[in-house]
Amino acid sequence: MPPLLAADEPAAFRVEREHGRSPFVLICDHAGARVPRRLDSLGLPAEELQRHIAWDIGAAEVASRLAALLDAFLILQTYSRLVIDCNRPPGSPQSIVQLSESTRIPGNESVPASEALAREREVFRPYHERICAELDRRKAAQQPGILVAVHSFTPAFHGRQRPWHAGVLYNRDRRLARAVLQALRADPELVVGDNEPYAASDSTDYAIPVYGEQRGLLHVGIELRQDLLDEAGQQEWAGRLAQALLEAHHRLEEISP
Ligand SMILES: [Zn+2]
Repeated sequence: MPPLLAADEPAAFRVEREHGRSPFVLICDHAGARVPRRLDSLGLPAEELQRHIAWDIGAAEVASRLAALLDAFLILQTYSRLVIDCNRPPGSPQSIVQLSESTRIPGNESVPASEALAREREVFRPYHERICAELDRRKAAQQPGILVAVHSFTPAFHGRQRPWHAGVLYNRDRRLARAVLQALRADPELVVGDNEPYAASDSTDYAIPVYGEQRGLLHVGIELRQDLLDEAGQQEWAGRLAQALLEAHHRLEEISP
């Protein structure tokens, strides 16, 4: 079988601020909307691949600005979540979806096992191996690594408006999430979801259970509403998140230095 990614196609991930000095490690699983040429746009028209079903609109830009403000390592996935979702365990039902919200994904309807493995090997693995390498390096160097996963969500889902401006996500370990939630909610103008619009879980997430919980690292998932992320909004949210993360970290250090 030929490789999924041709030699002239971009790598599965890119890293910004590789030597960033912040304890925060930023990841953006749904940063990209690209589909490997061999998959022929998954049978979707170009405009469908620009919709939120393909990627987290605005998340990469906020993450990049946040990385700059914090001087933090950031990794961004290049390829669409419709190729393989980098925030789902490979092989799980939501890893390669046939239906996203109400859109059928023709190219995902009968994916042979060899093809699913190629997507995992060439898109999912390189991205996660790079995250592992960074976390391993920090552990070996006795440098802190605090995982922050940046996502964005649609203002409406299946016709229902979502009231939150942002959401703070966690699963079993709420330490950092609780402190970030408190910091963001200090602004009375903001509606911040507590594990809303999604709750993190083992079956619907990858980074939080695998890096946060299994490695015992402080971690938080951040969700931002996409209609707030025009260019001014990207900078505003990056600033707000930087401040909330620093405040939250500071508070936790006071509790257990
Ligand atoms: Zn996402």
